[in-house]
Amino acid sequence: MPEPTKCIGCGAVIHDDEEYSFVEGTINPNALVCHHCKKAVNDGFRLSKELCDAVNVGDECSFGRALAIGFANQHRTLQQSFFRAFCAFLHYYKDTRTDARNEAAVEMAKKWFAVSQDQTLPFI
Ligand SMILES: [Zn+2]
Repeated sequence: MPEPTKCIGCGAVIHDDEEYSFVEGTINPNALVCHHCKKAVNDGFRLSKELCDAVNVGDECSFGRALAIGFANQHRTLQQSFFRAFCAFLHYYKDTRTDARNEAAVEMAKKWFAVSQDQTLPFI
């Protein structure tokens, strides 16, 4: 029996009669997302590309500084919401397949995720 098709956002099984769509911008042409997760998943894929494009110019320090300054000027509740999302990112990214190009990043994600489990980020 073949594996059921699952939403890459929530993991729910997508049935043939349900509304779903293909994920925009993914390298996996078979990645499907349910109607409920569509915006979050497409935003995540779009932002991951924009972040990688930003560091691809080679000035990671200036980018990181500007990102921190810009981020610190956002609504403080949203700053904390972002960190909850970042912890979720670490949870999933730590299990990413590796080779020499991303091995250190994934190892760092494992350590940061472990540390993040000791801290709560309340919604205020
Ligand atoms: Zn979903």
